Amino acid sequence: MQQKMNKIINSGRLKRLTKRLKQVNAYQEVFRQMDDETLKAKTQIFQSRIKEGVPLTTLLPEAYAVVREASLRVLGMYPKDVQVLGAIVLHDGNIAEMQTGEGKTLTATMPLYLNALAGDGAYLITTNDYLARRDCEETTPLFEWLGLSITLGFVDEPDYEYAPGEKKAIYAHDVIYTTNGRLGFDYLIDNLADGQDAKFLPPLNFGIIDEVDSIVLDAAQTPLVISGAPRVQSNLFGITKTFIETLEKDVHFRIKKKEKAIWLTPKGIAAANDYFGINNLYETPYFDLVRNINLALRARHLFDANLDYFIYNGEVVLIDRITGRMLPGTKLQSGLHQSIEAKEGVEISQDMSMMATITFQNLFRQFNDFSGMSATSKLGEQELLDLYTKIVVQIPTDKPIERIDYEDRVFKDATAKNAAIIEQVCALHETQRPVLLITRTAETAEYFSRAFFDRRIPNNLLIAQNVAKEAQMIAEAGQLGAVTVATSMAGRGTDIKLAEGVKELGGLAVIVSEHMENSRVDRQLRGRSGRQGDPGTSQIYISLDDYVVRRWGKSKLLDSKQLRRIDNETIESSHLFQQRVKHIVTRAQRVSEEQGVTIREMANEYEKSLSAQREVVYEERDRVLAQWDLESMYLKELARDVFRRAYRMKRLTTVPKLREYIYQYISFQFTDDLTNIDLNNEKVVVELLTTLFEKRLMSQEQAIEDDYMYIRFIQKAILKAIDSHWIKQVDDLQQLRGSINNRQNGQRNAIFEYHRVSLVYFENMREAVKAQIVNNICQSVTTFDKKGKLVVHFPN
Ligand code: ADP
Repeated sequence: MQQKMNKIINSGRLKRLTKRLKQVNAYQEVFRQMDDETLKAKTQIFQSRIKEGVPLTTLLPEAYAVVREASLRVLGMYPKDVQVLGAIVLHDGNIAEMQTGEGKTLTATMPLYLNALAGDGAYLITTNDYLARRDCEETTPLFEWLGLSITLGFVDEPDYEYAPGEKKAIYAHDVIYTTNGRLGFDYLIDNLADGQDAKFLPPLNFGIIDEVDSIVLDAAQTPLVISGAPRVQSNLFGITKTFIETLEKDVHFRIKKKEKAIWLTPKGIAAANDYFGINNLYETPYFDLVRNINLALRARHLFDANLDYFIYNGEVVLIDRITGRMLPGTKLQSGLHQSIEAKEGVEISQDMSMMATITFQNLFRQFNDFSGMSATSKLGEQELLDLYTKIVVQIPTDKPIERIDYEDRVFKDATAKNAAIIEQVCALHETQRPVLLITRTAETAEYFSRAFFDRRIPNNLLIAQNVAKEAQMIAEAGQLGAVTVATSMAGRGTDIKLAEGVKELGGLAVIVSEHMENSRVDRQLRGRSGRQGDPGTSQIYISLDDYVVRRWGKSKLLDSKQLRRIDNETIESSHLFQQRVKHIVTRAQRVSEEQGVTIREMANEYEKSLSAQREVVYEERDRVLAQWDLESMYLKELARDVFRRAYRMKRLTTVPKLREYIYQYISFQFTDDLTNIDLNNEKVVVELLTTLFEKRLMSQEQAIEDDYMYIRFIQKAILKAIDSHWIKQVDDLQQLRGSINNRQNGQRNAIFEYHRVSLVYFENMREAVKAQIVNNICQSVTTFDKKGKLVVHFPN
């Protein structure tokens, strides 16, 4: 029913798109006759029409037709009708689902061209450096022929140090190919700039995200983080670990696995009071203890060795849930990583504070408009709609899909399954048909690869190590007699062309050694075969030892008692058993997918406070950077505000207190007599302090002697105040997020509480920033370096 509805909706959408396709096609003949120069000159004509106010959408048919004809002349490829359909979807800011091999790279050139015409930048964002580079190189001749500038968004060398102005020059191009990670870090770095000339990122205009589902859905669970200084290390990891091992589930604590939530019951709290010899755990002084108990509980009960992480070389290394790859260098935040280290008894590593962070969801929201393409977005459609109000349009393939997706084969355990896979690969190899065997983990891939070598079958092993090499290897997976063993991510984004004679044998045979956590990924894997109407097959193998089953499957069948009664022979032949196992897998996938959605929703909810605050802060920074008029900075008013607050909060009603305040925040050299001042009169004291502030301002100006440098000094003093407090705020919110979980005891709404507290933090931060600005202006010491550059030594 649902599927049928989807089909109807999609064909309605396609019908409307086809109308616009016809408008594009109408230019075909005319442009075919045009000489190169006249065709190239179209770019300038479009540009001046845009200046006159003609909307891009009006120009679309003609502009797309120009790119098409240019592509034929320059690249030797004429974008097909289905590619133009996809290109229209991309300009509309929606998601185009196009199958592997349909030519997404070429499709994207049309909307990139159209949206780059106005000179505000058009971005193609993909998952890794290699793909960005490859696609950029492929399309560069086309864009340059058409008179637009194009570049890779980064310098593809390890640890490359950018010269001043170099990034600015990169981002000044019309078309930019980059990756989500590179762009995200640049966004964060750009907003740490301490002067206008250090800023390099223009407002983000238009972006197309390649493999959009894997970037905004799969990768979205781990935000980008710029780490700062090490945090003060807690010494409670060990003792809390020992304590929580004495607790009993459902007596002392409760778990909601799906929400990854865990909390102490009243009995648990009593046990803690007892163990640590305190009266009430939830009193303020024990805040850190509560946090650590919670971390220890989560480490113990929500994270499983070999499923969520490995112990490797004495370190806790996280596992990428979908690919099963190890993620060295990636760490869980806010002490959780350290708690797992304590649980496993390995050395406890340093917990770093967070300086700046953004989720990919919010990164893409910075774009004026963006769209996406992928082979498997339809399955994530609801979420894409909820998150970004984007619809997914399924673009038909140029030729009908000939691939046959066989029924799954089911086995009781991994041993029986692996034997069957090896046997099947050998049988296919006998006929010279190319085989691509896909596994979830690198270990399994290595196991199979060795098994084939033992049987004298040469094979290529791809375990997501070297992207460039693997792209080349996977491209060869369609050769006669080729056997390729790969993990699911290896060689992604590269399609497999069939060698001569392979079609006759039935095309590429894809065998997947187990279901992935997400049915979208299963579909991507099947799609490795049968590109552009080629023949091909795919088949997925299942056993009850599979990761998805163990991680997410809940069934009586998995009881060891039940299982022991069945042997492998009966299983292979029992239809009922097979159905039941398939059912377990489907359900397990659904649970895992739902959890993914929940986690992303939560992350999104938590991010709301942060992103609202980040927006205010970044805007404020930009305002300061652009401000060259001292009058409109209202420094005196700001100072008066700060002093009024200080007077009340710090009770500056005695001579020693007032003197100390002045000495600490305004001037080291204050010697005036204060005895005749009416200290109980707020107004008098505030005016006195404000006059002192103005004096300090004036002497700073005299010391610097240069109007421009003086304003730069004020800018720096303000930015320094904003940044140091904002960095602290980011880290505090991160910590808060962890601790809010502790307070959760079923009743309170954690997210609501988080938003409430984070707003309080924000208000406090604003006041602290203002006070810091006054302090920075009054007590910084300025010098000039050899090159005459202003150097500011801030008071703290
Ligand atoms: P996708 O990313 O959709 O899997 P690619 O962009 O990698 O596909 O393109 C697949 C192959 O098809 C590439 O070799 C590309 O050069 C080729 N191709 C794409 N569009 C056309 C076209 N219109 N005419 C001829 N070849 C094309």
